[in-house]
Amino acid sequence: MARKTTIKTTRQRLKAGASSPSLARGGGKGGGKLARVKSAKAQAKADTGAAHGELPRWTSAEVEEAFRRFAAANPTPRGELQHINPFTLLVAVVLSAQATDAGVNKATPGLFKLADTPEKMAKLGEARVRDLIKTIGLYRTKAKNVVALSRLLVAQHGGKVPHDRDALEALPGVGRKTANVVLNIAFDEPTIAVDTHIFRVGNRTGLAIGKTPLEVETKLMQVVPEHYLLHAHHWLILHGRYTCLARRPRCEKCIIADLCKWPGKTAFSAIADNTLRR
Ligand code: SF4
Repeated sequence: MARKTTIKTTRQRLKAGASSPSLARGGGKGGGKLARVKSAKAQAKADTGAAHGELPRWTSAEVEEAFRRFAAANPTPRGELQHINPFTLLVAVVLSAQATDAGVNKATPGLFKLADTPEKMAKLGEARVRDLIKTIGLYRTKAKNVVALSRLLVAQHGGKVPHDRDALEALPGVGRKTANVVLNIAFDEPTIAVDTHIFRVGNRTGLAIGKTPLEVETKLMQVVPEHYLLHAHHWLILHGRYTCLARRPRCEKCIIADLCKWPGKTAFSAIADNTLRR
């Protein structure tokens, strides 16, 4: 409660144009936005509060406005995992579990040059795949899964990636999140794959509060306007990866700062020029 009072007071002071040593102006083209510097401890406390669902609710008009801004800033968002076809996308997503997209992208060009179909990957074999992806965490298990899923695709799906959630989730190393990414990117399904970034953004902003990725996914599917669902997954991941960072969220660069419900945020107004976001 005390925190809410602080924010209200700060807002009132901003409105009144009062100056304060704890307020700083953002620079650059999107500058002129007043930001209140908060300690890491205060922000961690705000995250805890958010995780307990202590945030005000978003109105549907606010959600619409947030996604309108995401769409205006980045009309055709793309995933960052390099791939050539649905199969290489599936493999890249399997490899990305508990690893960064950048790390996966360093290893996959060599792998996909030798094996861009399930048949070729199965033929390449586990030992060779393991060697090609050894820079990625958990590479032993991942090599095993990649070869096993390739064999299954050949044996049960005619060497094609199935456009079917259950069939995808039945493949080794493929869970709900991976299936959602493949359904979204390869088959244009309006799915939301909740990774660490989306989980944080959903809870922190108050947009979709949940204790598990499935809870956050379910809430996002309920609140995101249908016409934004296809790209919502990418916008939220990119927002979490480049703006709403785990440790030091860049609120002063955030295009939804005025809508965000996080008590720890350090800016209260959205930047003027949306193109500055990326
Ligand atoms: S203002 Fe933006 S960057 Fe800051 S916490 Fe909210 S969503 Fe994240």
